[in-house]
Amino acid sequence: MLLSSASIPAAVRKYASGISYPVAAIGCRVSSEGMSLDCCEYDLAVFAPENNNHHYGSNQVLPVAGHTVELIYMTGPIKDHMIDLGGIAVIRDSNRFALSAAANDVSPEKYRRALLAAGRKSLVSSLFCQRKTAAAGAKQPAVAAMWLKIAAYEFIRGALALSGSRPMPLHELEQVRRVDASALADGIQAALECIGVERATRPAISRSIGAIRELKSKEYDAELVMSKIRHLMDRQMLADCYYYAGRVAAKNLAARSSAFHNRYAKLVQLSMDLTSDLQHLQKLQRQLFRAANVGLGR
Ligand SMILES: [Zn+2]
Repeated sequence: MLLSSASIPAAVRKYASGISYPVAAIGCRVSSEGMSLDCCEYDLAVFAPENNNHHYGSNQVLPVAGHTVELIYMTGPIKDHMIDLGGIAVIRDSNRFALSAAANDVSPEKYRRALLAAGRKSLVSSLFCQRKTAAAGAKQPAVAAMWLKIAAYEFIRGALALSGSRPMPLHELEQVRRVDASALADGIQAALECIGVERATRPAISRSIGAIRELKSKEYDAELVMSKIRHLMDRQMLADCYYYAGRVAAKNLAARSSAFHNRYAKLVQLSMDLTSDLQHLQKLQRQLFRAANVGLGR
Protein backbone atom coordinates (compact mmCIF):
# COMPACT_ATOMS: atom_id res chain seq x y z
CA MET A 1 0.00 0.00 0.00
CA LEU A 2 1.65 3.17 -1.21
CA LEU A 3 0.67 6.45 0.33
CA SER A 4 1.05 9.95 -1.04
CA SER A 5 3.89 12.13 0.19
CA ALA A 6 1.74 15.24 -0.33
CA SER A 7 1.52 15.81 3.44
CA ILE A 8 5.33 16.07 3.62
CA PRO A 9 6.67 19.64 3.24
CA ALA A 10 8.56 20.29 0.00
CA ALA A 11 11.77 21.11 1.89
CA VAL A 12 11.69 17.75 3.67
CA ARG A 13 10.99 15.90 0.40
CA LYS A 14 13.89 17.73 -1.21
CA TYR A 15 16.18 16.83 1.67
CA ALA A 16 15.08 13.18 1.46
CA SER A 17 15.71 12.93 -2.27
CA GLY A 18 19.30 14.05 -1.62
CA ILE A 19 20.02 10.94 0.47
CA SER A 20 21.92 8.31 -1.54
CA TYR A 21 19.62 5.44 -0.57
CA PRO A 22 15.96 4.59 -1.03
CA VAL A 23 13.92 6.71 1.35
CA ALA A 24 10.28 6.68 2.37
CA ALA A 25 8.20 8.78 4.71
CA ILE A 26 6.57 6.65 7.41
CA GLY A 27 4.80 7.22 10.71
CA CYS A 28 1.93 9.43 11.77
CA ARG A 29 2.66 12.16 9.20
CA VAL A 30 1.61 9.90 6.33
CA SER A 31 -0.81 7.70 8.27
CA SER A 32 -4.45 7.77 7.22
CA GLU A 33 -5.41 7.97 10.89
CA GLY A 34 -4.66 11.70 10.76
CA MET A 35 -3.46 12.13 14.33
CA SER A 36 -0.30 14.19 13.89
CA LEU A 37 0.31 17.03 16.30
CA ASP A 38 2.52 20.07 15.78
CA CYS A 39 5.24 18.38 17.86
CA CYS A 40 5.40 15.31 15.60
CA GLU A 41 8.52 14.85 13.53
CA TYR A 42 8.69 13.71 9.91
CA ASP A 43 9.94 10.12 10.00
CA LEU A 44 12.11 9.09 7.08
CA ALA A 45 12.92 5.39 6.72
CA VAL A 46 16.28 4.94 5.01
CA PHE A 47 16.95 1.57 3.37
CA ALA A 48 20.74 1.69 3.32
CA PRO A 49 22.65 -1.46 2.44
CA GLU A 50 24.13 -3.21 5.44
CA ASN A 51 27.78 -3.60 6.34
CA ASN A 52 28.73 -0.62 4.29
CA ASN A 53 31.56 1.65 5.25
CA HIS A 54 29.71 4.71 4.13
CA HIS A 55 28.82 7.74 6.14
CA TYR A 56 25.21 6.68 6.72
CA GLY A 57 24.07 4.32 9.38
CA SER A 58 22.87 5.76 12.65
CA ASN A 59 19.44 7.10 13.43
CA GLN A 60 19.26 10.80 14.08
CA VAL A 61 16.98 13.75 14.63
CA LEU A 62 17.75 16.91 12.68
CA PRO A 63 16.14 20.19 11.69
CA VAL A 64 15.24 20.71 8.02
CA ALA A 65 13.97 24.18 7.10
CA GLY A 66 12.14 24.62 10.39
CA HIS A 67 10.77 21.06 10.46
CA THR A 68 11.97 18.23 12.66
CA VAL A 69 13.08 15.16 10.73
CA GLU A 70 14.01 11.76 12.15
CA LEU A 71 16.11 9.45 10.02
CA ILE A 72 15.42 5.82 10.82
CA TYR A 73 17.76 3.31 9.21
CA MET A 74 16.00 0.07 8.35
CA THR A 75 18.10 -3.07 8.55
CA GLY A 76 17.59 -6.53 7.11
CA PRO A 77 15.53 -7.53 4.09
CA ILE A 78 12.71 -5.23 2.96
CA LYS A 79 10.14 -7.98 3.50
CA ASP A 80 10.92 -7.90 7.25
CA HIS A 81 9.33 -4.48 7.35
CA MET A 82 5.88 -5.58 6.22
CA ILE A 83 4.06 -3.37 8.74
CA ASP A 84 6.05 -0.26 7.83
CA LEU A 85 5.62 -1.05 4.14
CA GLY A 86 1.88 -1.11 4.77
CA GLY A 87 1.95 2.66 5.10
CA ILE A 88 4.82 4.41 3.38
CA ALA A 89 5.21 7.23 0.92
CA VAL A 90 8.27 6.49 -1.19
CA ILE A 91 10.32 9.60 -1.89
CA ARG A 92 13.44 8.11 -3.44
CA ASP A 93 13.71 4.65 -4.94
CA SER A 94 16.26 2.53 -6.72
CA ASN A 95 15.95 -0.38 -9.11
CA ARG A 96 17.83 -2.66 -6.84
CA PHE A 97 15.72 -1.92 -3.78
CA ALA A 98 12.48 -1.49 -5.63
CA LEU A 99 10.87 -0.03 -2.56
CA SER A 100 7.71 1.00 -4.38
CA ALA A 101 7.30 -2.49 -5.79
CA ALA A 102 7.74 -4.02 -2.34
CA ALA A 103 5.22 -1.61 -0.82
CA ASN A 104 2.74 -2.27 -3.62
CA ASP A 105 3.14 -5.97 -2.97
CA VAL A 106 1.78 -5.54 0.57
CA SER A 107 -1.91 -6.11 -0.07
CA PRO A 108 -4.46 -5.08 2.58
CA GLU A 109 -4.81 -8.77 3.42
CA LYS A 110 -1.04 -9.25 3.90
CA TYR A 111 -0.93 -6.10 5.99
CA ARG A 112 -3.79 -7.30 8.18
CA ARG A 113 -2.04 -10.63 8.74
CA ALA A 114 1.23 -8.87 9.61
CA LEU A 115 -0.61 -6.67 12.11
CA LEU A 116 -2.28 -9.72 13.66
CA ALA A 117 1.10 -11.42 14.04
CA ALA A 118 2.58 -8.28 15.61
CA GLY A 119 -0.39 -8.00 17.95
CA ARG A 120 -0.01 -11.59 19.13
CA LYS A 121 3.69 -11.01 19.66
CA SER A 122 2.94 -8.01 21.88
CA LEU A 123 0.45 -10.03 23.94
CA VAL A 124 3.02 -12.80 24.41
CA SER A 125 5.51 -10.14 25.47
CA SER A 126 2.94 -8.77 27.91
CA LEU A 127 2.55 -12.22 29.48
CA PHE A 128 6.33 -12.52 29.70
CA CYS A 129 6.55 -9.18 31.55
CA GLN A 130 3.73 -10.28 33.84
CA ARG A 131 5.78 -13.32 34.84
CA LYS A 132 8.57 -10.95 35.83
CA THR A 133 6.07 -9.06 37.98
CA ALA A 134 5.20 -12.26 39.79
CA ALA A 135 8.88 -13.20 40.14
CA ALA A 136 9.80 -9.85 41.72
CA GLY A 137 6.79 -10.05 44.04
CA ALA A 138 6.75 -8.55 47.51
CA LYS A 139 10.54 -8.67 47.82
CA GLN A 140 11.00 -6.01 45.14
CA PRO A 141 7.69 -4.10 44.97
CA ALA A 142 9.04 -1.33 42.72
CA VAL A 143 10.42 -3.83 40.20
CA ALA A 144 7.15 -5.78 40.32
CA ALA A 145 5.14 -2.62 39.68
CA MET A 146 7.51 -1.62 36.86
CA TRP A 147 7.11 -4.92 35.00
CA LEU A 148 3.35 -4.78 35.38
CA LYS A 149 3.25 -1.32 33.85
CA ILE A 150 5.50 -2.45 31.00
CA ALA A 151 3.19 -5.45 30.54
CA ALA A 152 0.21 -3.07 30.36
CA TYR A 153 1.82 -1.00 27.59
CA GLU A 154 2.61 -4.20 25.67
CA PHE A 155 -0.99 -5.27 26.08
CA ILE A 156 -2.30 -1.98 24.68
CA ARG A 157 0.01 -2.26 21.67
CA GLY A 158 -1.19 -5.81 21.14
CA ALA A 159 -4.86 -4.85 21.44
CA LEU A 160 -4.39 -2.02 18.93
CA ALA A 161 -2.63 -4.22 16.39
CA LEU A 162 -5.22 -6.99 16.77
CA SER A 163 -7.89 -4.36 16.08
CA GLY A 164 -6.16 -3.36 12.84
CA SER A 165 -4.45 -0.21 14.09
CA ARG A 166 -0.67 0.15 13.92
CA PRO A 167 0.47 1.49 17.30
CA MET A 168 2.15 4.93 17.17
CA PRO A 169 3.74 5.69 20.57
CA LEU A 170 2.70 9.34 20.89
CA HIS A 171 -0.82 8.58 19.70
CA GLU A 172 -1.55 5.22 21.30
CA LEU A 173 -3.98 6.57 23.88
CA GLU A 174 -5.94 8.45 21.20
CA GLN A 175 -5.86 5.31 19.05
CA VAL A 176 -7.30 3.34 21.96
CA ARG A 177 -10.14 5.87 22.25
CA ARG A 178 -11.00 5.49 18.57
CA VAL A 179 -10.47 1.81 17.94
CA ASP A 180 -13.20 -0.80 18.14
CA ALA A 181 -11.66 -3.43 20.38
CA SER A 182 -14.78 -4.62 22.15
CA ALA A 183 -13.46 -8.17 22.55
CA LEU A 184 -10.53 -6.80 24.55
CA ALA A 185 -12.34 -3.94 26.29
CA ASP A 186 -11.94 -5.37 29.81
CA GLY A 187 -8.23 -5.91 29.24
CA ILE A 188 -7.77 -2.39 27.89
CA GLN A 189 -9.54 -1.04 30.97
CA ALA A 190 -7.24 -3.04 33.25
CA ALA A 191 -4.16 -1.98 31.27
CA LEU A 192 -5.07 1.71 31.47
CA GLU A 193 -5.58 1.28 35.20
CA CYS A 194 -2.13 -0.37 35.51
CA ILE A 195 -0.64 2.50 33.56
CA GLY A 196 -2.45 4.92 35.86
CA VAL A 197 -3.89 7.29 33.26
CA GLU A 198 -6.41 8.53 35.84
CA ARG A 199 -3.48 9.80 37.91
CA ALA A 200 -2.40 12.14 35.10
CA THR A 201 -1.78 15.46 36.80
CA ARG A 202 0.82 18.14 36.17
CA PRO A 203 2.71 17.43 39.41
CA ALA A 204 2.82 13.69 38.65
CA ILE A 205 4.13 14.31 35.14
CA SER A 206 6.63 16.94 36.30
CA ARG A 207 8.06 14.48 38.85
CA SER A 208 8.58 11.91 36.08
CA ILE A 209 10.13 14.27 33.56
CA GLY A 210 13.45 14.73 35.39
CA ALA A 211 13.86 10.99 35.80
CA ILE A 212 13.00 10.30 32.15
CA ARG A 213 15.50 12.89 31.02
CA GLU A 214 18.14 11.08 33.04
CA LEU A 215 17.16 7.67 31.62
CA LYS A 216 17.32 8.97 28.07
CA SER A 217 20.39 11.19 28.46
CA LYS A 218 22.52 9.11 26.07
CA GLU A 219 19.90 8.52 23.39
CA TYR A 220 19.84 10.36 20.08
CA ASP A 221 16.14 11.22 20.27
CA ALA A 222 16.12 12.51 23.87
CA GLU A 223 15.42 16.13 22.93
CA LEU A 224 12.65 15.21 20.51
CA VAL A 225 10.95 13.05 23.13
CA MET A 226 11.20 15.72 25.82
CA SER A 227 9.80 18.35 23.46
CA LYS A 228 6.80 16.12 22.73
CA ILE A 229 6.14 15.69 26.46
CA ARG A 230 6.32 19.48 26.92
CA HIS A 231 4.02 20.05 23.95
CA LEU A 232 1.32 17.74 25.35
CA MET A 233 1.67 19.40 28.78
CA ASP A 234 1.31 22.88 27.27
CA ARG A 235 -1.80 21.81 25.42
CA GLN A 236 -3.32 20.39 28.61
CA MET A 237 -3.41 16.92 27.06
CA LEU A 238 -2.50 15.49 30.44
CA ALA A 239 -3.74 11.94 30.01
CA ASP A 240 -1.97 11.58 26.65
CA CYS A 241 1.13 13.18 28.12
CA TYR A 242 1.17 10.88 31.15
CA TYR A 243 0.62 7.84 28.93
CA TYR A 244 3.40 8.84 26.54
CA ALA A 245 5.92 9.73 29.26
CA GLY A 246 5.33 6.36 30.93
CA ARG A 247 5.62 4.65 27.56
CA VAL A 248 9.02 6.25 26.97
CA ALA A 249 10.23 5.15 30.41
CA ALA A 250 8.79 1.65 29.87
CA LYS A 251 10.64 1.16 26.61
CA ASN A 252 13.88 2.38 28.13
CA LEU A 253 13.64 0.29 31.30
CA ALA A 254 12.52 -2.90 29.56
CA ALA A 255 15.87 -2.91 27.76
CA ARG A 256 17.91 -2.53 30.94
CA SER A 257 19.33 -5.17 33.28
CA SER A 258 17.82 -6.21 36.59
CA ALA A 259 21.02 -4.96 38.22
CA PHE A 260 20.11 -1.50 36.91
CA HIS A 261 16.52 -1.78 38.14
CA ASN A 262 17.68 -2.71 41.63
CA ARG A 263 20.45 -0.18 41.82
CA TYR A 264 18.34 2.74 40.55
CA ALA A 265 15.03 1.77 42.13
CA LYS A 266 14.20 5.39 42.92
CA LEU A 267 14.77 6.47 39.30
CA VAL A 268 12.58 3.58 38.14
CA GLN A 269 9.85 4.54 40.59
CA LEU A 270 9.93 8.22 39.65
CA SER A 271 10.17 7.82 35.88
CA MET A 272 7.16 5.50 35.78
CA ASP A 273 5.20 7.10 38.64
CA LEU A 274 4.80 3.69 40.28
CA THR A 275 2.46 2.94 43.14
CA SER A 276 3.27 0.26 45.66
CA ASP A 277 -0.21 -1.08 46.42
CA LEU A 278 0.81 -4.65 45.73
CA GLN A 279 -2.59 -6.22 46.38
CA HIS A 280 -4.26 -3.91 43.90
CA LEU A 281 -1.51 -4.54 41.36
CA GLN A 282 -1.97 -8.30 41.73
CA LYS A 283 -5.68 -7.92 41.06
CA LEU A 284 -4.97 -5.91 37.90
CA GLN A 285 -2.34 -8.41 36.81
CA ARG A 286 -4.88 -11.25 36.98
CA GLN A 287 -7.26 -9.23 34.77
CA LEU A 288 -4.49 -8.46 32.32
CA PHE A 289 -3.45 -12.13 32.28
CA ARG A 290 -6.96 -13.28 31.41
CA ALA A 291 -7.34 -10.60 28.74
CA ALA A 292 -4.00 -11.42 27.08
CA ASN A 293 -5.02 -15.08 26.87
CA VAL A 294 -8.40 -14.12 25.41
CA GLY A 295 -6.59 -12.04 22.80
CA LEU A 296 -4.36 -15.01 21.97
CA GLY A 297 -7.45 -17.21 21.61
CA ARG A 298 -6.46 -19.47 24.49
ZN1 LIG B 1 2.87 11.78 15.62
